Amino acid sequence: MRKNIVAGNWKMNTTVPEGVQLAKDVCAAVAAEIGDANVGLAAQNCADHTSGAYTGEVSAPMVASTGANYVILGHSERRGYYNESYEMLKTKVDLALENGLKVIFCCGESLEERENGSFKEVIGAEIRDSLFHLTAEQMANIVIAYEPIWAIGTGKTATSDQAQEIHAFIRGLLADQYGAQVADDMTILYGGSCKPSNAPELFAKPDIDGGLIGGASLKAGDFMGIVTAF
Ligand code: PEP
Repeated sequence: MRKNIVAGNWKMNTTVPEGVQLAKDVCAAVAAEIGDANVGLAAQNCADHTSGAYTGEVSAPMVASTGANYVILGHSERRGYYNESYEMLKTKVDLALENGLKVIFCCGESLEERENGSFKEVIGAEIRDSLFHLTAEQMANIVIAYEPIWAIGTGKTATSDQAQEIHAFIRGLLADQYGAQVADDMTILYGGSCKPSNAPELFAKPDIDGGLIGGASLKAGDFMGIVTAF
């Protein structure tokens, strides 16, 4: 059975006191709305090495030692600004899983790729080249987030039909590689200018199992407006 998840990506925002307050507000609101504070903690990245002379990097064991449950990998900002390749992400995925972290693996096309029609090819390659070496058992610890780059932080959301088309496409790739069970069990999130006003329509689609939320996750009220959209 796949899980519905709404994940917040705070990016490089909040000081420690601000972050603690935001986390407290979200936990309190989740507990009040859902009755059970089913909240996990995620890092936004981890290193492609376990330890050693990599100044400034944070390893998967370090992330796990904080009590985090998840790590976001392959966000387009990491791929774009820090040149994270498919191969590097494959290593990061392995290290995260070896250290007991679940991975929220991001994929998605640029505006140019959407417009020139290569978007399915791009998304397919991102998923295949960084994830398809995993076993079916390991895939149970992966969540996929489809995030069209043209919709991230732009206020321009993919329509629910556009998002559904890609989510179904991703589920089809998983079915071809791993069979129907793995495909059916995979949680696939949508990310890109998701907010309380458009979340209900997106989450109503059969292959959209929740969201990865950037800007709107920085206000507990907006974030909860999305959580309660299910
Ligand atoms: C993101 O960065 O993962 C994201 C979805 O951002 P936003 O919601 O601000 O578009």
